[in-house]
Amino acid sequence: MTQRHAQRSLALVLPAILALALALSFVGFKVSEGTSIDHLVERGRQRLDLYETSLEREIDKYAFFPATLGLERDVVDLLVNGGEELTQRINRYLAELNKRAGSLSIYVLDSRGHVIATSNWDQPDSFIGEDLSYRPYFHDAMVKRTGRFFGIGTTRGEPGYYLSSPIFVDDHSVGVAVVKVSLEQLEQSWSTVEAPVLVTDENGVVILASVPSWKFTTLVPLTQERRGELAQSLHYNARPLPPLGLRSQGAVEFDKAEIVQLVRPDIEASQTFPVSGLFLSQSEPLRGTDWRLTVLSPFGDLRTMAWLNAALAAAAGVILCIAVIALYLRRVRLWERLRAREALQRAHDELERKVEERTRTLKEAQDELVHAGKLAVIGQMSAGLAHELNQPLAALHTLSDNTVKFMQRGLLEEAESNLTLISELVTHMGTLTSQLKSFARKSTGAPRPVEVRPSLENALFFLDRRLSQRSIRPEIDIDSGDLAVLADPNRLEQILVNVLANAIDAVDGVEAPRLSLSARRDGDRVRIEVRDNGPGFSESVRTRLFEPFFTTKDSGGGLGLGLAISAGIARDFGGSLSAVNLDHGGALFVLDLPYAAASEIIDA
Ligand code: ADP
Repeated sequence: MTQRHAQRSLALVLPAILALALALSFVGFKVSEGTSIDHLVERGRQRLDLYETSLEREIDKYAFFPATLGLERDVVDLLVNGGEELTQRINRYLAELNKRAGSLSIYVLDSRGHVIATSNWDQPDSFIGEDLSYRPYFHDAMVKRTGRFFGIGTTRGEPGYYLSSPIFVDDHSVGVAVVKVSLEQLEQSWSTVEAPVLVTDENGVVILASVPSWKFTTLVPLTQERRGELAQSLHYNARPLPPLGLRSQGAVEFDKAEIVQLVRPDIEASQTFPVSGLFLSQSEPLRGTDWRLTVLSPFGDLRTMAWLNAALAAAAGVILCIAVIALYLRRVRLWERLRAREALQRAHDELERKVEERTRTLKEAQDELVHAGKLAVIGQMSAGLAHELNQPLAALHTLSDNTVKFMQRGLLEEAESNLTLISELVTHMGTLTSQLKSFARKSTGAPRPVEVRPSLENALFFLDRRLSQRSIRPEIDIDSGDLAVLADPNRLEQILVNVLANAIDAVDGVEAPRLSLSARRDGDRVRIEVRDNGPGFSESVRTRLFEPFFTTKDSGGGLGLGLAISAGIARDFGGSLSAVNLDHGGALFVLDLPYAAASEIIDA
């Protein structure tokens, strides 16, 4: 990957990572907020149920009071017949009952709505004689219903909860019994609340609240018209009824709950829960009333947690992206390295193939050269060989002529002796031609164990005529009869013929020519030495002896290839051919070859 390529990829990847981080933070925020709100909704519902139950239990405690009054014979008597003394008795009875129940007041109304007996008969603000027919709880009870009403007393201006029951005579309502319970008594059940809780009446006015200052505020602002009506009925006894300050922030969970913001300038101190800020509002109608119970669960650090989780999700996303990119880059690098290695392997294989091909071509060329060298030797010896064959041929001619004559004369014995000579000559010629054929043959050059002595003898046989012409008797000294080397027999002969032919040439003109041959084993090597007592060679000749086409012989005398080819053959067999001048004159050629046990020799 080039640098420009990498930069371009980075320019594409960075915005993608950024977008992913943003998306993840959004999802993280939503999921975290959703989960927390679900949790809050669940908690709120539990609180709602708990507060509702405890409030209802508290109300129910007083609910039977008015109904039991209707069972009192004296109360019914008073309603039907009246009487001063009875009134006094019932007043005292109601006062005692009110004290014991802990309610605000207990009183009895006649069928016109006038108070005929009351627990506060002896107080300055006694209800006696008061017309309360305008109160809804009176109407409710008169039509044989249980009345429940929240209102503020007109006499003392004390807020309270009114519970009323009809008093029957023969199934006719003759009056109404009323008990007024103070709000504080009802609120007692909320002494341990953990979150703000409030009760609103049918007008949306807060009549009960765990925060005292919230009382007589409204959840929904009242219309001017409604305010007028309420003022007229003295329902809240001229209280100003300001709004509580709840602002909706949206519904959750299919409108069962709502997120609200409560903004109130007068923040109450010493509360165990927050009284302003964000809340989850859940409300429920109160059984048997037109009221609603509302629980406000504080949001607290829910949003902060959601932001934190959003940041965490974004960070996790970015880390994941970076990890994936790093992994990808690593894979690309590995893949590139693999490709480079494959290319290198291919190049290596190709090179090897070429080297093999060249080696083969070279080997073929070398084989051709070796063969050419051999043919050159034969060419050089051709004159001698022709003589070698011509002599017996001439002899054969004479002998056969004589034999014919002997036979014509009947001299059979002489004829027989001639024929024996003829046979010997033919055998000699056959040996010579077969040696020549064997020498001239193209060999493979593959090394194998070869006995030294037969190879030497064959070489000398070739040069036999040249040796005898110069009256040279070679001295042969071989370690043991079956000393063998690792070589190709034909090529070993070729080396020996070359070196011996040079030695014969070197002793040409020497008065007492001498040629000695020796072969010795030295560890896993064999040293074959050829010495002559010729002139040896000058230093300049010695350094160039093994160069191809180097010769000191006249034109036609030599090609200058013999030693170069011989040294090459020796090298091929893991050996060497070297030359030095002898101290007492003459040259020494040393052929060094690997030793081979004669037992390994396989007849070709
Ligand atoms: P060629 O025999 O055709 O000249 P060679 O490679 O066989 O080629 O020999 C190279 C030269 O080495 C010969 O021309 C000769 O000068 C020298 N030489 C080889 N053998 C001997 C030797 N035994 N004594 C002196 N000189 C030698």
